[in-house]
Amino acid sequence: MLKHVVVVGSSLAGVRACGGLRAQGFDGAITLIGAEPHTPYDRPPLSKKVLSGEWEPDRIALVRPEELEKLHLQLRLGVAAAALSLADKAVTLRDDSVVSYDALVLATGAATRRLPNQLEHESIFELRTLDDSLALRARIAAGNLRVTIIGAGFIGLEVAATARMLGNEVVVLEGAPAPLMRGLGAEMGLAVTQLHTDNGVPVRCGVQVQGIEHNGTELVVRLSGGESVASDVIVVGIGVTPVTDWLSGSSLVLRDGIVCDATLNAGAPGVYAAGDIARWPNPQFDGEEMRVEHWTNASEQGLIVAKNIIATSRGEQPDEYSAVPFFWSEQYGTRLQFLGRAAGDDDVRIVKGSVADRSFLALYGSHGKLRGALGVAMPKPVMQCRRFLLDKLSFADAIEASAAL
Ligand SMILES: Cc1cc2nc3c(=O)[nH]c(=O)nc-3n(C[C@H](O)[C@H](O)[C@H](O)COP(=O)(O)OP(=O)(O)OC[C@H]3O[C@@H](n4cnc5c(N)ncnc54)[C@H](O)[C@@H]3O)c2cc1C
Repeated sequence: MLKHVVVVGSSLAGVRACGGLRAQGFDGAITLIGAEPHTPYDRPPLSKKVLSGEWEPDRIALVRPEELEKLHLQLRLGVAAAALSLADKAVTLRDDSVVSYDALVLATGAATRRLPNQLEHESIFELRTLDDSLALRARIAAGNLRVTIIGAGFIGLEVAATARMLGNEVVVLEGAPAPLMRGLGAEMGLAVTQLHTDNGVPVRCGVQVQGIEHNGTELVVRLSGGESVASDVIVVGIGVTPVTDWLSGSSLVLRDGIVCDATLNAGAPGVYAAGDIARWPNPQFDGEEMRVEHWTNASEQGLIVAKNIIATSRGEQPDEYSAVPFFWSEQYGTRLQFLGRAAGDDDVRIVKGSVADRSFLALYGSHGKLRGALGVAMPKPVMQCRRFLLDKLSFADAIEASAAL
């Protein structure tokens, strides 16, 4: 009998799961456990409007206080889950309290990676949480500082854009031959670089960071080859790792995330994973196993696990999560949107606009199939490509169909 659902991770996926359970008519107990002390908030503005100072933290609540109350959650905030016992159906928290469940949602997301032996210093930042964003904002708000960003992924580039717009002198250092290699592939990654060079921010690719030092006067980033980059502020944006350490003693399969089936079940009855932490075979991509670190994925997966918990408790079949991954980014007021999957060896074709105009639509194909679509300042056409991906158009047919967008 389903009486108590425990959700671990009080951010997007976790909160969507709570809302989804109530929307499905579940009136039993829901305990939401979160390591952070804050009520659930949204992360995308942390590198954009919160960091720039345009928005205060009250603008980014994921659920308004009155709605949160209506969800009737037992909130356990500011205390992390430390261990899971599948045999006892219980989660142990850092304060040694034990919470038993009938069904469990694992939504502990991801945490920032750090450089090996990264120096501890008040002007070296990472960005994942509201506290990180507010601390960095306080440091760079006045402008006129030398800000070095290590890592040209989405977070690094968004921070670069925001720091630049605040009047700082910004440089981005990236070890790979192009920025955004993983998300967009080299060709389009280099195209996006131009937004930065247009705004006076060099994006130096193919440079290897050896470490960060303080030479007594200032911070320096040491590069291989002997060069160093003097900095007032350094932001390390070298990606994230899924937060699964607390699950290592459970028998769940952990491989760069929690390995799930297509319904997001984590391998034990009533135990599901959602969001940045979940790795699952996506039926939309012929069962290709993926883990997606983007907002829409976490939101949708939170809802689907709620649905599946209710369905299985009634003896019904759970739904598979079949999706076209989507993300957006905003840099210097330009919106980037990507649908699908990109791989380094994709064939990339610009079908509308041009890189020179800083406004274009590009399609990604592999082995004759359409794999993805990127829009830079092309919000409507890129979203229309979702249909092409859902319909699994061939690359050639998608190129032809895009002429009508
Ligand atoms: C600065 C920033 C900007 C972003 N911008 C965009 C964007 O423009 N577009 C886009 O598509 N995506 C963006 N993203 C990504 C998007 O925010 C994430 O994909 C989304 O937050 C994932 O949600 P989640 O709930 O799976 O995990 P998370 O948001 O990581 O939340 C997990 C929660 O679990 C908590 N937790 C961790 N361990 C434990 C534990 N042991 N016990 C209890 N709680 C625990 C964490 O403290 C955290 O609150 C951005 C992310 C960041 C950080």
